[in-house]
Amino acid sequence: MYQEARIVVCESLLGDLTFRIFERMGCGALVLTERIGNGLTALFTPGIHLEGGSRGLTFAGRRVSDTLVPTQEPLEDIAAAWRGARMPVVLTGAGLSTASGIPDFRSPGGRWSSYRPVTIAEFLASEDARAAYWRYKGETWQVICRAEPNAAHRALAALARADRIALLVTQNVDGLHERSGVPRDRLITIHGTDAEVECLSCGRREPRAVAQAAWESGTAVPRCDCGGPWKPATISFGQALVPGDLQRAFAAARAADLLVVAGSSLAVGPINEMVPLAHRAGARIAILTASETPYDGLATWKVSARVEVVLPAVRARVLAAPAR
Ligand SMILES: [Zn+2]
Repeated sequence: MYQEARIVVCESLLGDLTFRIFERMGCGALVLTERIGNGLTALFTPGIHLEGGSRGLTFAGRRVSDTLVPTQEPLEDIAAAWRGARMPVVLTGAGLSTASGIPDFRSPGGRWSSYRPVTIAEFLASEDARAAYWRYKGETWQVICRAEPNAAHRALAALARADRIALLVTQNVDGLHERSGVPRDRLITIHGTDAEVECLSCGRREPRAVAQAAWESGTAVPRCDCGGPWKPATISFGQALVPGDLQRAFAAARAADLLVVAGSSLAVGPINEMVPLAHRAGARIAILTASETPYDGLATWKVSARVEVVLPAVRARVLAAPAR
């Protein structure tokens, strides 16, 4: 029985079809099966401890690899790094809420796959655009309201409350981190939140329910007392991020010694730049995301298993031992 890993191997060793590798947990066979660019798909016997990151992979005392991306779950190593981290920072994305039943609303074949996002300029300019926006937001909020935080949210909330997360930055607008109990002073909702509305005339913010009730009772575009249109307090296309939030997220990435990415494909900028910023500053990086990401090559650990399984397992290991 073999497991699969993707590794990057020195050019001079590409001719070898079989390595024997020796690591601290024993030895076993590593069979290279396919070359993809300078990466290889490899099969290795279970129980081999593959070390990723700057230490690379060694074979018979020779360094054979500069980077290693194991698809097995190096949870013990991630937990050990987390326990020892002075400044652990977390970045989450849509994959974290999948297990709560919140789909990627614009994914292919989904109900809203043909929905064309309304830009902030269109929202401000046209009542038709505002009504179209509210149709989308009104219906998706009903899905979000029925959802509950899942085991991944609860694991991160427990780590944050135990002072094991310095800052949690989320791309999600569903409010599930808030509902799971992450302390608000450690949470940045970088793309805003659907749980509140803001008036685009007077700037007032209110809980979503205020405007949602009006929409559900037939008002196409709910309005503030001042007459301005309510807009769910998410960052729309064409709308700038909150500068202070972005600065705080980037500063945390530069100061982090561990950056954990959970459930994000890291496709959306500028917040995905947290990863190269942290990497350049010397942080170790764990990417816990099912899909490939543009930054997998910077990851010390890449775990493709489901986050609602991985994060509780990591939390149990981090909180089982005394911190630091
Ligand atoms: Zn107003």
